[in-house]
Amino acid sequence: RKLGYAIVGLGSYATKQIMPRFKECTSSQLVALVSGTPEKLTRYAAEYGVPAANCYSYKDFDRIRDNPAIDIVYIVLPNSMHAEYSIRAARAGKHVMCEKPMAVSVAECEAMIAASRKANRKLMIGYRSRFEPYNREAIALARGGHVGPTKIINAEHGFTAKPDQWRLDRAMSGGGSLMDIGIYSLNAARYLTGEEPMTVTAVESTDKSDPRFKTVEDRIDFMLKFPSGIIANCVSSYNSNHNRYRIVGPNGYIDAEPATAYEGQRMTIRKGDATMPRVLPAGQKSQFAGQLDHLSECVLADRQPIVAGEEGLADMRVIEAIYRSAREGRTVRMDRA
Ligand code: NAD
Repeated sequence: RKLGYAIVGLGSYATKQIMPRFKECTSSQLVALVSGTPEKLTRYAAEYGVPAANCYSYKDFDRIRDNPAIDIVYIVLPNSMHAEYSIRAARAGKHVMCEKPMAVSVAECEAMIAASRKANRKLMIGYRSRFEPYNREAIALARGGHVGPTKIINAEHGFTAKPDQWRLDRAMSGGGSLMDIGIYSLNAARYLTGEEPMTVTAVESTDKSDPRFKTVEDRIDFMLKFPSGIIANCVSSYNSNHNRYRIVGPNGYIDAEPATAYEGQRMTIRKGDATMPRVLPAGQKSQFAGQLDHLSECVLADRQPIVAGEEGLADMRVIEAIYRSAREGRTVRMDRA
């Protein structure tokens, strides 16, 4: 059976990346749309064959409760709206897929998890890289000690932010590059190690005369120290383009670049004296369809998603520690954060 998804927020990511991928899905289908713009509802309903009865505005969103065709609600709204709509969806008896960052604070993440538990519904975060073949390979190689036990991870993520958008308004975004793109460096450091950091040390560099960065940070560099001794050095930037990580061990390194882009992943492995590209078979399900189907399959089999709400909460705990470290100019211990 294909479970029915309602997409909430018909912006760039939803319409250009997510909605076109349902045709690849084996366990998921697009059945409903939620938007504040009637023209968008009409246009996308026609394009995807969604009946008018399954189109909702934000005002009548809670009526999804009465629509048995909707199994899962996918929140693709600005960050500050994730918690409210995830909680309302759970209260309406629906499973929830929520985009990253899960919310704008640890407290909101905890409230989302509590609401889903209370409703006995699943909650998953849109960490698509976990369904992307090169990232899965990198996890297996790093944790399997392919270049020896991992010692260092370097992860860099950034892009040049365009002015005048909600991402640059702290009230909507909850923060700057770290909330949006640096979270890929953080999440990769956590999934490549399979560990939670013990300490966090961060430095922020933001040109406050740049009108884009009036309320949010541009650049924030952070170092995570993990229990096994692995150190991750991470970059998060809104003013330079990076998308890569390197896993370094005593016998070589594994490079991924682009590492977490929408497509075109490449991997190179240096082992001993040899440097070789790692090429995986083409034609696998895209990370987007993999992510959508994973939640459907978890609902059908009553399994916990590999990137459940707890995973978003774990990132948010570290994000709050990164901001605290930068603000206070000191290393923050996670057990005291
Ligand atoms: P966007 O601005 O293109 O879309 C946001 C949508 O929310 C728009 O349709 C907008 O109309 C709607 N909206 C509803 N109420 C709003 C309000 N009060 N103010 C502003 N917009 C409002 O943004 P996007 O790039 O699609 O990002 C949406 C979410 O998806 C964010 O949480 C972002 O972090 C996430 N995202 C994830 C990925 C990924 O690769 N996983 C990529 C891009 C975005």
